[in-house]
Amino acid sequence: MQIVPASATILDDLDRQTMARRIESCGRLCYKSEDRITDTSAEPFIRKVTEHGHNSVLEMAALTLRVYCETEAIIDQFLAAQPKYLQIDRPEKKEKMLLISGTVRAFREIYQNCGNTKLVKGMTAFLAQRHPLFFFDLSGRRGFLPQTGVEVEKLSLDEVDALPTDLLVKHRHLAVRFVTNRAVTHELVRHRPCSFLQESQRYCRYSQDKFGNEVTFIKPMFFPEDSEEYLLWQQAMLETEKIYLKLLETSSPQAARTVLPNSCKTEIIVYANLLEWLHIFRLRTTKAAEPSMREVMNPLLAAMQQRFPGVFDGLQGE
Ligand SMILES: Cc1cc2nc3c(=O)[nH]c(=O)nc-3n(C[C@H](O)[C@H](O)[C@H](O)COP(=O)(O)OP(=O)(O)OC[C@H]3O[C@@H](n4cnc5c(N)ncnc54)[C@H](O)[C@@H]3O)c2cc1C
Repeated sequence: MQIVPASATILDDLDRQTMARRIESCGRLCYKSEDRITDTSAEPFIRKVTEHGHNSVLEMAALTLRVYCETEAIIDQFLAAQPKYLQIDRPEKKEKMLLISGTVRAFREIYQNCGNTKLVKGMTAFLAQRHPLFFFDLSGRRGFLPQTGVEVEKLSLDEVDALPTDLLVKHRHLAVRFVTNRAVTHELVRHRPCSFLQESQRYCRYSQDKFGNEVTFIKPMFFPEDSEEYLLWQQAMLETEKIYLKLLETSSPQAARTVLPNSCKTEIIVYANLLEWLHIFRLRTTKAAEPSMREVMNPLLAAMQQRFPGVFDGLQGE
């Protein structure tokens, strides 16, 4: 067995990749098949996961649009449809322009749910042209009015980063990869506005060479390494690994995983806007939070404070 420390890494590098590449890169975490990424692998990967209904993969890329509307009625019609999972702002009340952010999935589903509004028709037509891989089927199926009364512009990441703080926190999304234990990820996934992708114990077979033919556990922060408690924990993990590997000789990973404990190492990508990260830090860095959670959240907060000066002010890990 292998014992590794917990960690959290801001995935800044993803923000500079194309949407297809970032979605593939995040999606492959579930299967730990990152080694299969090639120059041409993104498109077939994305098609396959979406065909299987694994739509949360499409939540791993967010985009921000400025949508200029010809009339107030277009805005009213859109808002009356109560669009879900989008961040919507009207920065200048006098200007008929909305700032709209959401993930690829949110923009796809807004068309499926509110596709009869002019704004959504125009927005989806723009997206289908700009990102055919993700939106081509929507524009093809129903066709669009050539005149929707809207003009759409996509913001670059630098433009999003230059938004005033009250808009930045809502429209800037950021992904973090946690390498931690299953108890911590169980708590993380309670933060409902986030998007998540997690290493799958159903698909990963830890007896394979790529996993070193062993189970990896997260070093518990509760027990000093030379303590009696640590030795007991180590003994339990060794025993568990033995039973898991034995079960794999005759069973599937999903059956064998039933013996795996909370200490099992897992990877999860959490993708959320800065406002939700603020909320998470408020809950998960105080003394009331679980110590293994604070172990990763406190350094992450410090890194975020450096990355976005002014946004996380007043918070300090305890
Ligand atoms: C110290 C601590 C102890 C805990 N103990 C337990 C426990 O014993 N048992 C347990 O089950 N959980 C426990 N939790 C988890 C806790 O109850 C929340 O599920 C978790 O912290 C997620 O936070 P949240 O619900 O505020 O916000 P998030 O899910 O992060 O949501 C952010 C915001 O979205 C809005 N929101 C999202 N979904 C809805 C909705 N459906 N309806 C209304 N508003 C919504 C709210 O405005 C919310 O503020 C604990 C958490 C902490 C920090």
